[in-house]
Amino acid sequence: KSVVAIVGRPNVGKSTIFNRLVGERISIVEDVPGVTRDRIYAQAEWLTSTFNLIDTGGIEIGDEPLLVKMRQQAEIAIDEADVIIFLLNGREGITAADEEVAKMLFKSNKPVVLAVNKMDNPEMREEIYEYYSLGFGEPYPISGSHGLGLGDMLDAVVSKFPTDDTEEVEEDTIYFSLIGRPNVGKSSLVNSLLNEERVIVSEIEGTTRDAIDTRLRKDDQDFVIIDTAGMRKRGKVYESTEKYSVLRALKAIERSDVVLVLIDAETGIREQDKKIAGYAHDAGRAIIIVVNKWDTVESDEKAMKQFETKVRSHFQFLDYAPVVFLSAKTKKRIHTLIPAIKVASENHAKRIKTNVLNDVIMDALAVNPTPTVKGRRLKVLYATQVSVKPPSFAVFVNDPDLMHFSYARFLENKIREAFGFVGTPIKIFPRRRQ
Ligand code: GDP
Repeated sequence: KSVVAIVGRPNVGKSTIFNRLVGERISIVEDVPGVTRDRIYAQAEWLTSTFNLIDTGGIEIGDEPLLVKMRQQAEIAIDEADVIIFLLNGREGITAADEEVAKMLFKSNKPVVLAVNKMDNPEMREEIYEYYSLGFGEPYPISGSHGLGLGDMLDAVVSKFPTDDTEEVEEDTIYFSLIGRPNVGKSSLVNSLLNEERVIVSEIEGTTRDAIDTRLRKDDQDFVIIDTAGMRKRGKVYESTEKYSVLRALKAIERSDVVLVLIDAETGIREQDKKIAGYAHDAGRAIIIVVNKWDTVESDEKAMKQFETKVRSHFQFLDYAPVVFLSAKTKKRIHTLIPAIKVASENHAKRIKTNVLNDVIMDALAVNPTPTVKGRRLKVLYATQVSVKPPSFAVFVNDPDLMHFSYARFLENKIREAFGFVGTPIKIFPRRRQ
């Protein structure tokens, strides 16, 4: 999928444009505590194209002076994006900071679409010619707050997408990534996995820009470890800014079947861990919680139970994710990881036959009758699995509004009881029967 980044000074309207392009998708709230959403990266659509959008303004780079901040944001955009939307404020014209950024973008040779925001009325469009001087071709007058001109701008963006964007994905290969705070042991764990016995390793260079994926084969199963860049390529702005590493993690998550969420047993669970895990959950990937550095604590059964209880209470939204305890350093219990990845991946891609599914649904209805809302009773007619990765179920009902979150949750639990689905989220969509 192509990546589009929005770059521009503070207050030119980046977030407004970002939210417009992303649409409602981002404002979906889930009734589960712990899922935090950061509005810096989201999926957007235009005509037949789906792409990922980055609001570089949301990447906090500390208390740097404006010019430094903008330079870093431009650098991120240049590194990460296929197409850059360079946003200016039509009410203020071209400032020195804009020119500075323009220079960087120009040198990078990345496709740039110049958009001039806050052109709320037609008279203002006269002023658009001034912006040709930046050298990025036609400037697009837009109004984020009124939603004007966005279509033309998006046409230009989409037309600049690289044509060979189709990344090869091998059907029988399990793609996984490791995410977690700096120093939880991501690189150490990758290295330990690769050095395990009977693991055959080869590198896939330059798969996606600067990421280095690693292929391994174990017990007749192919895996690809998606490098969460910064893992191998240290330095630069990467791990030094939290949100930038989040960005890298998001891109890795997107290409993964299974995401390993690493937690440091030594330092315990932190707020940032939850945030990172929330991204993997939102993306609908299979998830395994890996408690690393288990060598540093007293590691008997009891300690494990206690730690797991803690994990469960912090990560309530990940109740489906198994918890694996290991030490990347001593390699203790590391052999439990690959089998867990296999199980999670199988469940993530599992299909349930409609008749079997409906037997379970009917039993569920008998145990816990459907609720009545404002005098109207929810009727569940039947259910069918509509997709995998994650397994998603359409439940046909008389009126979707009557399907309360808690009842959907109840059905989900019944489906889980019947079919397992350890390691994977599952989704339930109430649909009105035609
Ligand atoms: P990353 O930033 O997540 O890639 O973390 P690293 O793999 O660079 O590890 C950070 C630090 O934690 C290094 O000093 C490692 O040696 C140490 N470390 C990693 N895994 C373990 C472990 O299982 N046990 C212990 N005691 N230390 C570990």
